[in-house]
Amino acid sequence: MEEYDVITIGAGGAAYPAAFRLKRSGFSVLMIDKKGVMSGNCLAEGCVPSKAVIETVHNLAKMRHFGDYSIDYSKIVDHKDSVQNIRYEQHDQELKEAGLKIIKGTARIIDDNTVEVSSDTGTSRYRSSSAIIIASGSETFVPKIPGAELAWTSADLYSLKPKVKKLPKSIAIIGGGYIGMETASFMSILGVKVTVIEMLDRVMSTMDEAMVDKLLPLLPKMDIRTASPVQSIERNGSMYHVNFGKEGEKESIEVEAVLMAVGRVPVFPEGIDDLGIEHDRHGIKVNMAMQTNIKNIYATGDVNGITPLFHAAKRQSLVAANNIMANNVPIDYFDPLSVPFTVYTIPQMAYVGILPSQARKMGIEYLETDYQIEKDALAQINNEMFGEIRIFTDKRMKVIGGYVIGNDAGNVINEIALAVSKGLSLRDLAEMAHQHPMTFEGIDSAARKLY
Ligand code: ADP
Repeated sequence: MEEYDVITIGAGGAAYPAAFRLKRSGFSVLMIDKKGVMSGNCLAEGCVPSKAVIETVHNLAKMRHFGDYSIDYSKIVDHKDSVQNIRYEQHDQELKEAGLKIIKGTARIIDDNTVEVSSDTGTSRYRSSSAIIIASGSETFVPKIPGAELAWTSADLYSLKPKVKKLPKSIAIIGGGYIGMETASFMSILGVKVTVIEMLDRVMSTMDEAMVDKLLPLLPKMDIRTASPVQSIERNGSMYHVNFGKEGEKESIEVEAVLMAVGRVPVFPEGIDDLGIEHDRHGIKVNMAMQTNIKNIYATGDVNGITPLFHAAKRQSLVAANNIMANNVPIDYFDPLSVPFTVYTIPQMAYVGILPSQARKMGIEYLETDYQIEKDALAQINNEMFGEIRIFTDKRMKVIGGYVIGNDAGNVINEIALAVSKGLSLRDLAEMAHQHPMTFEGIDSAARKLY
């Protein structure tokens, strides 16, 4: 049986940062992935391709201040494909330079030191002397409603050479989470008649209500139907009927396409039940050192369900690597509160840390300060004079959270996240000479209002 110090199940963002770090420190590492390539679902069908589409449409929206511009959607898809190809090649190169190995196959855990891989060429077993990292990610959740198989998933839009190369005239998007709302906003800008159908009383229901209420009026035109569970999808010639609503309030709409965007679920490798690795439907249970109940088996990224985002997976992966290097005695911990989250609607909304709804639940008294983006030079240059930066602190003015809606939100939030992560105060932010003309200036302007 081949032996390695560390084996990763999966080769996405939750696996390869650890693999690179461990390799550099002299550990032997084997990555196993069903796809046989590094980078996981983020590059295959997630963050990178969706942003390649959304950013292009955002640029189009900005150009429309000067004329009646349009782009053929198939050209946007070509651009998206080329970005994915560039990154696959880059990752191949990085893998070669690091001298790391990936095996294409499906991994199953046999015991706390053995992994079995099934592939086209048969089945082999590998031994790990130090640790196993389970980084098997997540997949789109498809609910058991009649006709669910008729709906697209994000993979149909964003995988390489995707099924969808031409946009429909109308679409029903089932689910008002971030993936649904991001897709709704870019499609609306491209002229698609969009209806978002959400089961709960509000869209983006896991996020701070006051923040979401500020974003919604800024989004492109779309019909949002809340408190509307979908009952079934039916095909009618080239059209689809989506039937939704509660008992006694049933409705139906006819659309050219349906997108299922009701969330993602963890993918567990086989063997975790036999080995007694604790998990529930949200993910594998871990401590903040990323260890499962078996101390040399780690679970990082989407598979633990804590913060299913690429950059959180990357940080968790490095936490696991550091703890493996310390012989599985934790020296590094993951802090979920300092992970920023950006919703790539057009405009964007980004947030981090403790926001008012959570502060109230936790009984934390907070102070807040803001900067209105209409006053921002870069927003004026970009013709995007709306939204705000809002920062929350504890009573001693230590930054505990914040959000940004509008121009450059996904960039600006990182500085607030750094403040949360490092326990900085409003004074620290106020004293920073932020560049002009950049949206970041709004941070010290907001900080100076209170400090
Ligand atoms: P994360 O961001 O947490 O790394 P991803 O979903 O991007 O998650 O990546 C997970 C990767 O794990 C995917 O490339 C998937 O093909 C792979 N994978 C899932 N289950 C297994 C398994 N049992 N064996 C090998 N690879 C797996």
